[in-house]
Order: sequence, then C-alpha cells, then structure tokens
Amino acid sequence: MRSLLLWCAQNLWLSEHVPQWGFVKRAARRFMPGEDFDAALKAGVAFKAQGIGAVFTKLGENIKAMSEATAAVEQYELVLKTAAEAGLEPEISVKPTQVGLDIDPDAAFANLNRLADAAARVKGFLWIDMEGSAYTDRTLDLYNRVHARHSAVGVCLQAYLYRTASDAYRMLAFKPAIRLVKGAYAEPADRAFPAKRDVDANFLALCALVLPDANRGRLRLVLATHDVALIDRVARFADAIGMDRHQLEVHMLYGIQASQQARLATEGYRVKVLVAYGDAWYAWYLRRLAERPANIVFVARQMFG
Ligand SMILES: Cc1cc2nc3c(=O)[nH]c(=O)nc-3n(C[C@H](O)[C@H](O)[C@H](O)COP(=O)(O)OP(=O)(O)OC[C@H]3O[C@@H](n4cnc5c(N)ncnc54)[C@H](O)[C@@H]3O)c2cc1C
Repeated sequence: MRSLLLWCAQNLWLSEHVPQWGFVKRAARRFMPGEDFDAALKAGVAFKAQGIGAVFTKLGENIKAMSEATAAVEQYELVLKTAAEAGLEPEISVKPTQVGLDIDPDAAFANLNRLADAAARVKGFLWIDMEGSAYTDRTLDLYNRVHARHSAVGVCLQAYLYRTASDAYRMLAFKPAIRLVKGAYAEPADRAFPAKRDVDANFLALCALVLPDANRGRLRLVLATHDVALIDRVARFADAIGMDRHQLEVHMLYGIQASQQARLATEGYRVKVLVAYGDAWYAWYLRRLAERPANIVFVARQMFG
C-alpha cells in the first residue's frame, strides 16, 4: 500500500485530476489549516498560546519554470516578515526543487541564500527539506554553501538512508542544524533500509552519535517524528548525558499527535509544528497517506459524507 501511494504521488495524470475532487481536498485539510497563508498564520498564533512554535512551508516541488521559483521565494520573504510582525519565531521550510534545483542549481543556491538573508533580517531560521535520494548530494552541497554564509540555516537528514551516519558525522565539523526524520520517499533497498524496525534503530543510533554535540551547543538537533516511543527513548538518553529538556527539540506535522505536541511542550521540551499551506498539496498529501495507509479511511469518510 505504501509503494502504491508513493507511486500515485509521482503520477502526472493523478496529480492533475485528484486535487479537483472535493472529498480528497476536504480529507487533506486534516493536515493543513487551509490553502492560504492567513490560515497558516492563524494556526501559528494559536500554537504560540500553547507554548508551541510554528515552521511554515508553502507546498510545491519540482517546479518547471524559474518564474515559479521566484514567486515562491517572494512568498517566503513575505511569510518571514509577517510571522515576525505577528510575534512568532519566523521559521520556514523549503524544498530545493521548489526554488529551482531541477532547472539550475546555481539559481537554486542564489534563491536559498536570498531566503537565508531574509531569515537573518528577522532573526528567523531557514530549514532546507530533503527530497528523494537523487537529490541528497545536491541538497547537502546547497546546504554547505548557504551555511558557509549564514548560521541560521538547517537541513533535513533521513534515517532510512544508509549514508546518513557518515553525512551527519561529516557535518558535525561545522556547527550544523540537523532536522532528523525517518524519510518519506520510495527508495531502493541498495540506498535505504527496507524494514521499518531498521529505520527506527538507525534513527536512535544517529541520535546517539550527535546528541553529545547538541548537548555542548555545537549542533541544533531536531527530532522530526511523531514516534513518541522513539522520542521518549532519545529523551532518556539526553537526560543521562545531562542535557536540559529545552535543548531537545521536537517538530511534528500539523494535525498529527496534537495531544503529544502539547504534552511535550508542557514537560519543557522545545516543540514546533510544521504548518503547510498552498494549493500544491497533492504529492505531499499522498506521502502523508503512505506514512499511515489507515488515513485512507478519512478520505473514504469524506467521499461518503
Ligand atoms: C517536521 C517534519 C519535517 C519533515 N520533513 C521531511 C523531509 O524534509 N524529508 C522527508 O523525507 N521526510 C520529512 N518528514 C516526514 C518523515 O520522513 C516521515 O515520513 C513522517 O514523519 C512519518 O514518520 P514518523 O517519524 O512520524 O514515524 P512513524 O513510525 O511512521 O509514525 C509514528 C506514529 O506517528 C503517527 N503518524 C505518523 N505519520 C502519520 C500520518 N501521516 N498520519 C497520521 N498519523 C501518523 C502514527 O501514530 C504512527 O504510529 C518530515 C516530518 C516532520 C514531522
């Protein structure tokens, strides 16, 4: 089912037609407060009242013309400014292929650099998403180049890839910010652990590798997962090495494990929610279904009213 849903995420015909189906649109709303930024901002303000931060992402990937990349950059600049004016810690999360990586890597670098400048102006933060493994080298290269000029920039690493331990180890040399996830794309067995239990074990092993650096303030580490048992295991390890709770940061997606987000924040961990908006939600939503195929029940419920 996971493979089928991830195949659907890449299918051109489905990506053009499915978003027009009202019941799928309604089902997708479970993971995003609305298509426009106003709805996302409103959600961010409500999270702040609960002691939870927000990271904003405008949905969109694999754009076909640089004009789309420029529009995305301008939109993110506005998001950073508006979020700062609303009293939020302005953080954004951007896909490299949304700012032109497929078309022109140097232009994608210039766009990310421009966003890092905009984030620095409002004391915000730029997160660079990690897409399928065909992009890993190019994304890490972009990250290294942007990070050489800006400190408030981080990148996502995926625990399902065999290479991630060596990538993380190499990055520790330059005070990085790492958002560790399990990984959301369809990957072949020669690049990624096929079994979920191995991915979970690697997530834990990667945390053990980098937590001492996070404890010494040499790394901003984010556990971006809804796997509460895994978070609790990492938290116990962090506690054992004397790390303060507020140094351990957890990010989750809007609409998933909301009560756990609130619990972790109340217990003193740093919690942020990734709030997505925009109309290009199809591939992103299919990946959410693939993570938990039982979510299809929500689509069926919308279909049958
Ligand atoms: C802030 C953030 C940023 C991310 N950025 C990236 C990225 O840049 N690149 C990338 O490849 N991946 C990214 N991901 C997705 C990630 O790789 C996983 O696919 C996703 O988080 C699901 O895995 P999990 O860690 O929650 O663990 P799982 O073991 O899959 O899930 C643990 C539990 O969480 C709940 N859960 C998980 N997913 C869902 C869902 N979709 N619907 C309902 N409940 C669910 C279920 O209760 C499940 O039992 C990101 C995830 C987060 C939270």
